[in-house]
Amino acid sequence: MTKEATYLPIALRLDDGRALVIGGGQVAANKLRLLLERCPDIVLVGPIENVEIARAVETGRVAHLGDRLELNQIGSMLEQMRIVFAATEDAGFNRAVAATAREKGVNICVVDDPEPSTFITPAIIDRTPVQIAISTNGAAPVLARRLRTQIEALLPDGLSRLARFMQAQRDWIRRKQPDTMIRRRAWEDFVDGAGAEQALRGDDVAARASLEASLEGVPREGEVWLVGAGPGDPDLLTLAALRLMQNADTVLYDQLIPPAIMDRVRRDAERVFVGKKRSHHTLPQEGINDELIRRARAGERVLRLKGGDPFIFGRGGEEMEALVDAGVTVRVIPGVTAASGCGAAAGIPLTHRDCAQSCVFVTGHARADGTLNLDWDSLAKKGQTLAIYMGLAPMADLCAQLQAHGLPPDWPAAVIEHGTRHDQRVHVATLATLPALVIERGVASPALTLVGEVVNHRRSIHHKQA
Ligand code: SAH
Repeated sequence: MTKEATYLPIALRLDDGRALVIGGGQVAANKLRLLLERCPDIVLVGPIENVEIARAVETGRVAHLGDRLELNQIGSMLEQMRIVFAATEDAGFNRAVAATAREKGVNICVVDDPEPSTFITPAIIDRTPVQIAISTNGAAPVLARRLRTQIEALLPDGLSRLARFMQAQRDWIRRKQPDTMIRRRAWEDFVDGAGAEQALRGDDVAARASLEASLEGVPREGEVWLVGAGPGDPDLLTLAALRLMQNADTVLYDQLIPPAIMDRVRRDAERVFVGKKRSHHTLPQEGINDELIRRARAGERVLRLKGGDPFIFGRGGEEMEALVDAGVTVRVIPGVTAASGCGAAAGIPLTHRDCAQSCVFVTGHARADGTLNLDWDSLAKKGQTLAIYMGLAPMADLCAQLQAHGLPPDWPAAVIEHGTRHDQRVHVATLATLPALVIERGVASPALTLVGEVVNHRRSIHHKQA
């Protein structure tokens, strides 16, 4: 068994160096791409068989030294190179170049052949000036690429902007505060606080003010984030939701948020359940508003995590109003609403050229006797889909009223129970048969009702990998 190679990830400076690529095909092009944005002086040897390479040579960006050079010719220029990639189809030739490079102490990578190489290229996430390299010591490149995708999803869009902002402040902050320790604390406070968010979205003036406040030890200002968590499948979280879930000090959540989503909240964040189950409210709405305001004023970054979209039947609007009235900074992040999530996961389109030109999102407040207070004439129409958000209790009244106002008894209707989750069930029926079916099958909340001919277009699709 050969000795296992060990590697040190480093960042190699290339703006003042020269790079050599040997090879002219796809493999060489992949390495050339890494160099193009980083190295001004690139030379290439090889028969050009790739459009990217051809373009780089035509524009003069890369100097083409010939289709084929002898080993000794290549050997004589190796010493001028900061970095060399051997990427010809001739493995023996690549290895011979590597042997010469090693003799001369020049770092070389033979593509797809780590043994003779003195370095290998990691999977790279490039948000220049931030770069993240993922290396598995060559053991599992596919795994490295998967990890890259996962990490990439967590990184905010404005990361480059944030890093450049921080870079631009360095001289100023060093002059203002010579003590390294105090400076570092201020930076940490800035990165964890509102300042980073401000710089990410390009508001450099506000970000600079936050940095100055951090430097002077001014207690940081709290914020509230009203974030839609989607219908339950964690894969349907937005990137913004995921990031704020990682940055929050406190999370206020209710029973629409399943454990699979709470698992993705920063481990040290305080979790406060403010769930509203029908009839026994854990915290009334004013209580929730007050709690959000109190915590924001105490400097916390509070995540108000809401099922689906915060502005669709989630009372997110009321929370926003109360917070803004109290002078608290609020951000709103939309989420996949139950109708979209359930439609997609159940294989039922919400609109369809043949039968549904509109889709109405409705919620009904059931009266004490279980009947609903809705504008039945506008709802009981053909050519549209109803997506009905509400508990299951008023189902009988709903189906009866739609028929009483003109829809036929055999009009298609479906209930999607626990939509998008592992235990999703889809119950397809008609207005006449749905109420009994829901009772017979013991359908449980949360459940969404879809009414309209789109239900007939349902196709069985695979909604979620187990
Ligand atoms: N803001 C949420 C809706 C809150 S109202 C959104 O945009 O989706 C709560 C109702 O939403 C529930 O009674 C149910 O009708 C529906 N709902 C939420 N999540 C659901 C899910 N995963 N499956 C089915 N219905 C859901």
